[in-house]
Amino acid sequence: SIMPATLSAISNGARHGLLFKGGVHLENLAHLNAIAFDKTGTLTNGTPEVTDALYAEEENKEMILSIAASIEQESNHPIAQAIVRYASQEEVPLSSVEHMQDISGNGVKAFHEGNEWKVGKPEFVGKEEAYLFQNGIAKTLAKQGKTVIFVKKNNEIAAVFAMKDTVREDTKKAIEELKKQGVYTIMLTGDNSATAQAIASEAGVDHYIAELLPEKKVDEIKKLKAHFTQVAMVGDGINDAPALATANVGVAMGGGTDVALETSDVVLIKNDLSRISQARKLSSRMNRIIK
Ligand code: ADP
Ligand code: MG
Repeated sequence: SIMPATLSAISNGARHGLLFKGGVHLENLAHLNAIAFDKTGTLTNGTPEVTDALYAEEENKEMILSIAASIEQESNHPIAQAIVRYASQEEVPLSSVEHMQDISGNGVKAFHEGNEWKVGKPEFVGKEEAYLFQNGIAKTLAKQGKTVIFVKKNNEIAAVFAMKDTVREDTKKAIEELKKQGVYTIMLTGDNSATAQAIASEAGVDHYIAELLPEKKVDEIKKLKAHFTQVAMVGDGINDAPALATANVGVAMGGGTDVALETSDVVLIKNDLSRISQARKLSSRMNRIIK
């Protein structure tokens, strides 16, 4: 049975933008001493915008953008949506592609007029080739905190798109507050290391790990659990669901995908990260009342 103090704290939480799926999660928050964050859509707004587009053949740029966006149209990844929006801004028409595959944590691929096209991270299209493209432009773009996505047609790199996501307005303050409470903060991302470093330093997290495949995020949560009393994971995507389930407390962004919302123990209704440190205080107060 739920203690009256727990019930009143849960309803207090709801008023403050947090939804708890059970009193135990609220009680656990008091002992929270490590918290892992997904990057895209969690620490950042998750609506990246294409800032740079470089093509192998300038005369074919519309065709390349059109095919890349046509494939991405079928993916719901924030990067995919950014490429589709960019094509629309550039007034490039979309066409139909065949055998589209969305490869979690990597990118997408499909066929168009007998050619195989891939759109995704450097490792997905061939890391060495990707980094050689246009005199190593990818490295420069990544150091600016941009995510670099390559387009490959059969065996040739056809284009690179760089996109910039913005750190949420409340992120810095939310992280600062958690650190003040003695909570260790870490960012886990599938993005490349240079981009991750730029975003991590802007957000102010203690540490970051980049280039993680979704299943590796789970391993990192397990490692944290071996070192800390209570570990929370905050995420928004389908990709984050396994890590949310593995953490002691899974926290989903309210604007996240259904799978993330379903897997989580706590929901940040208004995507406001500062609610976590507030809830942690609320939890300590509540536990004192119960005991
Ligand atoms: P994150 O941890 O940043 O949310 P993901 O694990 O979803 O990232 O993906 C890791 C990387 O794989 C992305 O940074 C991107 O480079 C690439 N990627 C994933 N999905 C797509 C897609 N639909 N189109 C292009 N690239 C993608
Ligand atoms: Mg995300």
